[in-house]
Formats: sequence, C-alpha cells, structure tokens
Amino acid sequence: LLVPIGLLVGIALSALLIWAMRSWSSTRAIVRQGLRRREYHLCYQPVIDLASGRIVGAEALIRWRRSSGEIVPPDIFIPAAEEAGIICAITGRVFDLLAEDASDVLRIEPDFHFAVNLSAADMHRSDIIADIHSLTERSGIPHAKLIVEVTERSVVDLERARETVHSLRRGGIAVAIDDFGTGYSSLAYLAQLDVDFLKIDKLFVHSLGTGSATNQVAARIIEMANDLNLRIIAEGIETRAQEMILRNLGVHYAQGYLYDRPLSLEDLLQRLRAQRAIPRRKKNVAA
Ligand code: C2E
Ligand code: MG
Ligand code: MG
Ligand code: MG
Repeated sequence: LLVPIGLLVGIALSALLIWAMRSWSSTRAIVRQGLRRREYHLCYQPVIDLASGRIVGAEALIRWRRSSGEIVPPDIFIPAAEEAGIICAITGRVFDLLAEDASDVLRIEPDFHFAVNLSAADMHRSDIIADIHSLTERSGIPHAKLIVEVTERSVVDLERARETVHSLRRGGIAVAIDDFGTGYSSLAYLAQLDVDFLKIDKLFVHSLGTGSATNQVAARIIEMANDLNLRIIAEGIETRAQEMILRNLGVHYAQGYLYDRPLSLEDLLQRLRAQRAIPRRKKNVAA
C-alpha cells in the first residue's frame, strides 16, 4: 500500500511543480534556487563493452532532489529549463559535479570514458568549447575519453552544430548522436555531422524481436553505421534476448537496466572495484 501512496504523492508533487514551472520567470527562480541550495547531483549509468562484458564507461545523468525530499525527473525539469533559457547554468553545474567526481573513478579505471548530455542552447553558444576543455582539465578525463552526446533536438542550426562538433573533434573529444531512431534523423544527416558514436534509442531497442520488419531496419541502420565507421551504443537494454539480437547485429556497446540502473557515484565505484577483482577475459586469437 505504501508504494502506490508514495507514487501518488510523487505524481501530485511533480504536477504541482510542472504547474509552477509553467511561466519562465518562476522556472528560472526555481532552478536558480536549486543551484544555490546544491540540490543537483549526478548519477552514472554504466556502459558495457559487449565483446568483454566489462564496464568501460558511464553516462552522467543529472538528478534533482528538492529540499522537500522529492526527486524531480530530468524529463520534466530539463525541457522546462531549456524553455526558460537557463539550461546552460545547469550544464555548468553538471560539468562542475563531474569535475569533482571523475578522479575517484579514474583512480580505479584509468581508461574509463564519461558521457555528458548537451542541449540545443549549449550547441549554439560560443563558449561551449572552452567550457568542455576546462572540464577535461579540471576532471583529469583525457579528451578521447569524454563523449559529448547531442540529440537531433539539440541541432537547430545545422551549420552552427557542425562547427561545434567539428571543433570538439578537432580537440580530440568524442561526439555521439543520442536517441537515434526516435526522430527524423537519417544517416545521411548524421554523415553531415561527422560524429564518433551513434546511440540507438531505447524505444527502438524495445521494438526488437517483436516483428521481422523492425529487425530488418535495425540491421540496415547498424550496417550503415558500421560503413560510416561509427561506433554503436545501444540504450535501454532490458533483456538477454535484446542483447543477443544487438550483439549479432554488430553493436559494440550497451547500456540498460539489464546491466545497471543509473548508479550513485559510490555504487559505481563499488561496481568498478568488484570488476577489477575479476581478471580480464583473454581475447580469443583467431585461428
Ligand atoms: P538520455 O540521455 O537518453 O538518457 C537515458 C535515459 O534512459 C536515462 O533516463 C536512463 O535512466 C534511462 N534508461 C537507461 N537504461 C534504461 C532501460 O534499460 N530501460 C529504460 N526504460 N530506461 C533506461 P533519465 O536519467 O531519467 O534521463 C532522461 C533524459 O534527461 C536523458 O535521456 C537526457 O535527455 C536528459 N538528461 C539527463 N541528464 C541530463 C543532463 O545532464 N543534461 C541534459 N541536457 N540533459 C540531461
Ligand atoms: Mg528517468
Ligand atoms: Mg544521453
Ligand atoms: Mg538517449
């Protein structure tokens, strides 16, 4: 009984917050207050290398715990903050938090990669490159081990976005297209952005195995991504069946509840320490 009551209270509080966040000025005030009170923190969802089964990196996902104890999901406050024009302040806090957290992880796994999410406003502002370089310096994350995730929605001005992607990659930083398969992006469009990774969206992953047509489309996407030399990360893997299909299709990396939910920094460190205790599987030498 406690669970449904908690859920109802949570929904009611979120509804109240959405209502309060409907005007730009109150969204700005609410977000600023959250920043001042240090109500944001990061969770880390492990990324698994399908060939070895090991955790090789993690995506940093923001969490907002209000002073009331209520946890506001990013799907609610990120779009509100974007609309209110205050998302860059949140991105700044994400970078600060990651800069604080990363060294503990790198001490255990020096080759670990971190992924961060950018919004449209970040992609189109001139100081984003400097901010990201400052993040790598402060965090100790090597350039090649930072993955900047951009969604189709974060590309408003294709020319401008191309410049940002180009500058990032010229500086040795990796770029991923996030949530691929949900929007209108075609691979031709992707080729224009010239990124390193393609993240296949969970909705797409969940439709695998439900009909042969979806599998055919997935197979073609993965084949073409491979032709474009893109590395593929599948998101939202929840079952061994999904994992098997994706692995057979040639997907390299996986992220999802099958392996881990987004973890607190402490839990991530724990997982990595446990992993280190297990020796690396020897690579099969092809006969
Ligand atoms: P995203 O970047 O596509 O992140 C993946 C989301 O899928 C995460 O939700 C994660 O918890 C969820 N997920 C992971 N594995 C599974 C699974 O196996 N099954 C299912 N059903 N879901 C899974 P989360 O953390 O609630 O984040 C939602 C979205 O909020 C993110 O989607 C991203 O677009 C945005 N977001 C999160 N953190 C940030 C941030 O720091 N900056 C910006 N700009 N956006 C962020
Ligand atoms: Mg969520
Ligand atoms: Mg993402
Ligand atoms: Mg995604």
